Amino acid sequence: MPQPPLPFVCRFAPSPNGRLHLGHAFSALVNAEAAARTGGTFLLRMEDIDTTRCRPEFEQGILDDLAWLGIVPAAPPRRQSEHFADYAKAIARLEAMGLVYPAFESRSDIARAVIEAEAKEGHPAPRDPDGAPLYPFQRSGLSDGERAQRRAAGEPYVLRLDMAAAMEAIGSGPLFWPEARDLPEGSAVPAPADPAQWGDVVLARRDVPTSYHLSVVVDDALQGITRVIRGMDLFHATSVHVLLQRLLGLATPVYHHHRLILDGSGHKLSKSNSATSLLALRNCGATPEDIRARLGLDPLQPTPRM
Ligand code: GLU
Repeated sequence: MPQPPLPFVCRFAPSPNGRLHLGHAFSALVNAEAAARTGGTFLLRMEDIDTTRCRPEFEQGILDDLAWLGIVPAAPPRRQSEHFADYAKAIARLEAMGLVYPAFESRSDIARAVIEAEAKEGHPAPRDPDGAPLYPFQRSGLSDGERAQRRAAGEPYVLRLDMAAAMEAIGSGPLFWPEARDLPEGSAVPAPADPAQWGDVVLARRDVPTSYHLSVVVDDALQGITRVIRGMDLFHATSVHVLLQRLLGLATPVYHHHRLILDGSGHKLSKSNSATSLLALRNCGATPEDIRARLGLDPLQPTPRM
């Protein structure tokens, strides 16, 4: 029997660790307007797992900036910091499948191992799609018993996904996600996923019992997101997200990765550059219409008088 089409539910998911910039404004507007065009739902999520860098005043700043742009989420924001138990449940499930292991190397242990390997091999170590070196150690370098003992003894660790075992667990057959190409609400084509290019990714950090990859997947499912509309910079990360969805038995939404807003020298905007923050632009007298024009978005049509 043909399935009824899924409702259109999308989200904007900023981290409240700074003020929003033009790139965020673009993402939020593309999401909110796609929801409006389809009669769908636009939700907001605060990706605040990094409890040391995220602050309530930045969350308030995000709410103010969105309201100024004319964006009204359908519900109060979901805060990731209030849902660590949901992430723990997902990790426990993956652990029970034998796909997760504690790893005890510090960042500097990893950096040193990469430098040593590069010196020995005479060529750069393999990197992930963001350009960071892959985790250079092997799960098999320590027995499971030894890992369990060190964990029980209170040594700091991260939890990593055993990528090879995870790929085996999902079996053969292509892994892909539906990518809507032109418009966020347009028809989708399969995009091939290649999670192995990320190596043994971190699922839970030392300081926080989760990670971006894990919590984004769990929350998209728990918030009933059917369309993930976000920047092109997260295109390759989707490979990991689809793998986690498959392992956890979660539905894969349709994705749309939109163009990025770049600065004058072609670089991605960053929160540390306050010149492109919406607050700075507002303070210089910019209007929401100026922001739309600068982002290459059509002007808003005036609401017809009844
Ligand atoms: N929190 C991420 C960011 O601010 C966005 C995550 C996502 O949209 O999947 O870049």
